[in-house]
Parts: sequence; C-alpha cells; structure tokens
Amino acid sequence: LTPLIEVKNLKKYFGSGDQALKAVDGINLDIYPGETVGLVGESGCGKSTAGRTIIRLYDATEGEVLFNGKNIYKNSSSEMAKVRREIQLIFQDPYASLNPRMTVEEIIGEPIAIHGLLHGKKKRERVLELLKLVGLDPEHIHRFPHEFSGGQRQRIGIARALALNPKFIVCDEPISALDVSIQAQVVNLLKDLQKEMGLTYLFIAHDLSMVKYISDRILVMYLGNMMELSESEELYNEPLHPYTQALLSAVPIPNPKLKRERIVLQGDVPSPINPPSGCVFRTRCMHAMDICAQKKPEWHEAKPGHFVSCHLYNKNI
Ligand code: SF4
Ligand code: MG
Repeated sequence: LTPLIEVKNLKKYFGSGDQALKAVDGINLDIYPGETVGLVGESGCGKSTAGRTIIRLYDATEGEVLFNGKNIYKNSSSEMAKVRREIQLIFQDPYASLNPRMTVEEIIGEPIAIHGLLHGKKKRERVLELLKLVGLDPEHIHRFPHEFSGGQRQRIGIARALALNPKFIVCDEPISALDVSIQAQVVNLLKDLQKEMGLTYLFIAHDLSMVKYISDRILVMYLGNMMELSESEELYNEPLHPYTQALLSAVPIPNPKLKRERIVLQGDVPSPINPPSGCVFRTRCMHAMDICAQKKPEWHEAKPGHFVSCHLYNKNI
C-alpha cells in the first residue's frame, strides 16, 4: 500500500537565527488511504502548525510533503490549485470560522464557486446534497450561522470541507469547542463520512480522551518533536514514552482493573525558542538520566509499528 501523504523531516520555524521559534522540528509520518492518524499534544506543542504545514497553508522551513507520491512543495501554482481541492481543513472553532453575514448556502457553496465548478441550480443541488450528508435539514439552506447550535455549525464546517470531494482532511481539534455530549456525535459523523467517501484524516486533539475512537494510529508530539507513534489500541494499553504515560494517566478509563496512577507533570512546557538540549521532554520527565541532556534520543521502532523517541528504549546507548 502506498501512503497518500508522506511527511519527511518537516520543520516549521517562525523567525530566524537564535530567535527562531521552532514550532515543528522534524516530523516524519506516512498516512495511508482511508486511515485516520490522531495527532496529540498539549496546546503550543506545534500540532496545528504541523497540520497546516503538511497541507502547505504554511510554507515549510525544511523537509517535504508528498501527496500521492508528489512533493507539494515543488508544485507550480496551477498544480497546487488542483491539490487544494483534494486537501481540506476543518477548524476548531465553528463560531469563528463561519462568516456571520453569509447564509448556509453561500458558506457551503463558496469553495464550489471559488473553483468555478458548478453554477446556479446545479450548485444549489450540490449544497442540498451536502446538507443531507452531514445531517442538517435542507430546509435551513437560507439560514445564517447564528441560527444554529455549536454542533450544527461544526456540521456546516464539515459540509464546506466536503464540497469539493476531497481525499485528505486535516481536522484541527474539531470537537474541542463543543459540549461533551455533542463531541461523540461529530466524531461518529466524521467516521461515517470517512467510510462513505473513502476519506483520509489527520485528527488533531489536545488530549487522548476522544481521539481513540476515531484514530487508527496516534502520533504524540511535544515541543515540535515526535515522541511516540503506534496503533491506537496499543498506545492506550502499552504507552512507552513517559510523556504519553502522563497524558494517558489523565484520561478516565471505564475498566477499573486498568486503573492508572495519575502522573502530574511538573513545571511548564519550555520555550520553543530555546528548547532543552538532548531530549526536549527531559525538564519534565521523572525518568531523565544524564544522557537525556547530552543526546537527542533517536526515533526508534521499539516493537513492530510502535515507534518511540526515548533513551529508555534504545539498547544501543
Ligand atoms: Fe525521559 Fe530521557 Fe526518555 Fe526523554 S529520553 S523521555 S528525558 S527518559
Ligand atoms: Mg491548535
């Protein structure tokens, strides 16, 4: 199976020289067709920036991204315009991402209009079809965003993202702003749409509570770096990285036999302008050793398909 997305040593710095903010500092990731990869880390760890750099909404400082085997950073603007149809973004805040002066018809129809794909009656039919697809009442096509609930507004955002029949969608914390009772509905909708349309997702989240239900694999990031990547089930059952263990200890588990001790991380996330030497997690890690300050841990396949960046698992040191 060939990956749909191949991210190679991707870096995104803001600013330059000593003062550069290293938001994303070397991400390598393959995403396969029909798969959902969860991207998890505390706020400020660079996950939104990674998502935006992967789809070239931000230009990378270094590295490349292949979409269907082709480096999108080498695309001409006309090639990029074509790729833009196949790659979409769903935003965290459905309130802020919808223009309050536009009707639902205008909002969902906007990408179709921008790309000049359908007009008039055909365009309206497509919008009606999209409304049904995301579970909204087609009769509400003339309503404005304020007439909908938060969950319904996120459905409008999803319909807009689907308007051009994309292949890959970056979902940037699409449920974080929603009531807990609505979160599962939106996750289920995204799962149903994935099956129906053969979509591939990068699903960004700041904690590990809901992300399990949608992700096939999960990548944990900290301070712009990859900490751990594995199949979701395995990550939950056997987290290797001390940071993942801490994140997971905050997630309530229904099975009391699996009760985990709560690990409270000490201190704050260091500045991405001046990250710690060696392992970037070491200032908050309770297992930190001398080598952790001296040497950056290698990205290492500790078990088949289960990667970790931590000296505890590297037998070569
Ligand atoms: Fe902790 Fe060292 Fe592993 Fe980093 S490399 S997570 S500091 S044990
Ligand atoms: Mg974010």
